[in-house]
Amino acid sequence: MSIKQEIMSVVKQTFQEHTSITNNSKLLVAVSGGKDSLVLLDVLLALGYDVQGLFVDEGISPYRDISLQDARGYCTQKKISLHEISFKEEFGFTMDDAVKTGLYHPCTICGTLRRYLLNKYSRQYTALLTGHHLDDEAQTVLINLFRAHTTLFSRSGPSTKSNKWFTQKIKPLYFVPEQDIIAYAKEYNITVNTTKCPNSGISYRSNLRKELDSYSLSTPEFKKQLLNNYMVLRNNITAPSQPFDTCQRCGQASNGTLCMACTLVERINNHLTQTSSCKASKE
Ligand code: SF4
Repeated sequence: MSIKQEIMSVVKQTFQEHTSITNNSKLLVAVSGGKDSLVLLDVLLALGYDVQGLFVDEGISPYRDISLQDARGYCTQKKISLHEISFKEEFGFTMDDAVKTGLYHPCTICGTLRRYLLNKYSRQYTALLTGHHLDDEAQTVLINLFRAHTTLFSRSGPSTKSNKWFTQKIKPLYFVPEQDIIAYAKEYNITVNTTKCPNSGISYRSNLRKELDSYSLSTPEFKKQLLNNYMVLRNNITAPSQPFDTCQRCGQASNGTLCMACTLVERINNHLTQTSSCKASKE
C-alpha cells in the first residue's frame, strides 16, 4: 500500500468511527500553510470531499508570510477557495506586537485568538478540520494530564460535537504519525515550510515533544499506544459540564462577562496604546 492509500484509509476509518461526515458535508480546513494542513487538504480532495480553506494570519514575521505563500500556492494549484483573515484586521495588532507587551505567553495569545477566529468563521460549515496528527495529540494527552486540565483531558480526541456555541472540530489525521505526513509531503511535492515560529522554542509543548521523541526512539509504538489507551479511558470518563454565558462584547461563548479572547485583546490594546503615548511624550 502506498503512503497515500495508507493515510486515506486511516482518515476514512477515523471519519467512520468518530464522525457522521458524508460526502455532502461542507468542510472547512484550518490551513496554516505547513505540511500537516496541506497534506490533510490533499487527502480530503483525494477522498472526494467538498473542502474550503481558512487561513489565519497571526502576524508572526517572517514565519507566517512564508506559510501564507505556500497555502496560496497549493490552493491556487488545486482550485480550492482559501479565505484569509488576520489578527491585525480583527484585533488591531499582530502577534509580533502582542509578544512585545510581555503580558502573556506568546502561545496563550496565539492559541486563544486563533481558536476564537476559527470558530467564528466556521459556523456555517458542517465541521472545522485541523491537521493535528498522532504526535501532536500524544503531547496533548500528556499536557492535559500533567496540568490536570480535567475538562480538556476528557474532551480531546478525534472529534467534538457541534453545539449552540461551537462548530464541530475534527482531526482527521489523529491516528497518523507525523513521519508518515512528512513522507507524503515529500512524495507528492507538497512544499514544507521549514522556518520555525520564533516563539516555539519556549513552550511547554516543545520541551515535552523533545522528551517524547527521545523516549520513542527506544519504544517506537509508545505514542500510538498512548493514544489508544487514552481513547479507552476517554470512553469511560464523563466530561464535566461547562455552562456558557454570552460575552458582552462579541456575543460568543464566555465563562464571564467577557470571553477570554476579548479580555486578552483589551489588555494588549490598552498596553500598546499606553506604550505608544509614552513614546510620543518623550519625543
Ligand atoms: Fe502560535 Fe506558539 Fe504555535 Fe508560534 S508556537 S504559531 S506563537 S502557538
